[in-house]
Amino acid sequence: MGAELGRQQNTLEMIASENFAPQAVLQAQGSVLTNKYAEGYPGRRYYGGCEHVDVVEQLAIDRVKALFGASFANVQPHSGAQANAAAMHALLSPGDTIMGLDLAHGGHLTHGMRINFSGKLYNVVPYHVREDDHRVDMDEVARLARENRPKLIVAGWSAYPRQLDFARFREIADEVGAYLMVDMAHFAGLVAAGLHPSPLPYADVVTTTTHKTLGGPRGGVILSASEEFAKKFNSAVFPGQQGGPLEHVIAGKAVLFKLAATPEFADRQQRTLDGARIIAERLLQDDARAAGVSLVSGGTDVHLVLVDLRHSELDGKQAEDRLHTIGITVNRNAVPNDPRPPMTTSGLRIGTPALATRGFTTTEFTEVADIIATALQPTTDTEALRDRVEALTRKFPLYPNLNGGL
Ligand code: PLP
Repeated sequence: MGAELGRQQNTLEMIASENFAPQAVLQAQGSVLTNKYAEGYPGRRYYGGCEHVDVVEQLAIDRVKALFGASFANVQPHSGAQANAAAMHALLSPGDTIMGLDLAHGGHLTHGMRINFSGKLYNVVPYHVREDDHRVDMDEVARLARENRPKLIVAGWSAYPRQLDFARFREIADEVGAYLMVDMAHFAGLVAAGLHPSPLPYADVVTTTTHKTLGGPRGGVILSASEEFAKKFNSAVFPGQQGGPLEHVIAGKAVLFKLAATPEFADRQQRTLDGARIIAERLLQDDARAAGVSLVSGGTDVHLVLVDLRHSELDGKQAEDRLHTIGITVNRNAVPNDPRPPMTTSGLRIGTPALATRGFTTTEFTEVADIIATALQPTTDTEALRDRVEALTRKFPLYPNLNGGL
């Protein structure tokens, strides 16, 4: 644990799905709440002694409903995947048809990947991004929906640098009588800050994780603007998917939802967006272009950029290793129509949420962007870049009060 704390402190974390949870969240997760069984829901438990965890869980529910303007919330899913499994379990039967963004085009495993539960239980019709501008092809979504009459359409992504058109998804879902599920795991923090359209008015169900842009404990949540399916969602989580809820994590969620309603949180999300835009702009400059670097969709309007290395001397794995050498952590990622296999790929996914949490402003993101652009040149002085990274980590100490990771 101490070694991992050191790694987080001494490197620049730019994995788009990661963040640094506040110390109050770490404390909640390390508390005695971890000892408690609480199957059921506040006021309706199957175990005695739940009077205090009831307060904790109700607080998390009330706060997340207020944060996103939801009428219904379930804060028990242990993860984003569990939230998605439960939401589908509530609305679908095995064998039903669903549509989701193809994994190779930026979708998530739970949106219909072949060996995921979603691909095994349901008949999956994937949709894609357009070849020319890498935006989700809404005409294809409409055509596939008419042809296949899905019972549920999933809108959401893990590696896509643009906003989705929720209104158009709703229109298509209505036309074919499908449910619309929005998985906002990646961009929920931006939504909470009012910097990204909210899917709540459009979707029958919204799922999210709490640890990506939101920056709280690892976990999942199910939300809805109406209470129509409240009972179905609750019984799909427990007893449908899970046993006892993780009340220590739910306490962390309650802390997060309070912090996410503050001006400081909104400022952090704005810096997150600014950082991604600065990196995108830097990677579109001539020297990067000359090194074969380009961007999927030509830019970003969220917290990440997807670097396209199909014309670079470096493949995704080599670029990830190069950045790792200088102290920047990112993940290689397939780009749409990637000619290389998933273990190599021709892309990088670079995100700014964790560095924004660390305190980075446009000044530091400008420096980070230049370090990355320089590192992606065919040959580069990695030692000099490592020094520049170190200077940034020293400027923004992380978790200065933690000892040995505790
Ligand atoms: N949904 C999306 C869009 C994601 O990107 C992820 C995780 O990467 C998940 C769900 C799953 O979250 P978890 O890893 O908590 O199961």
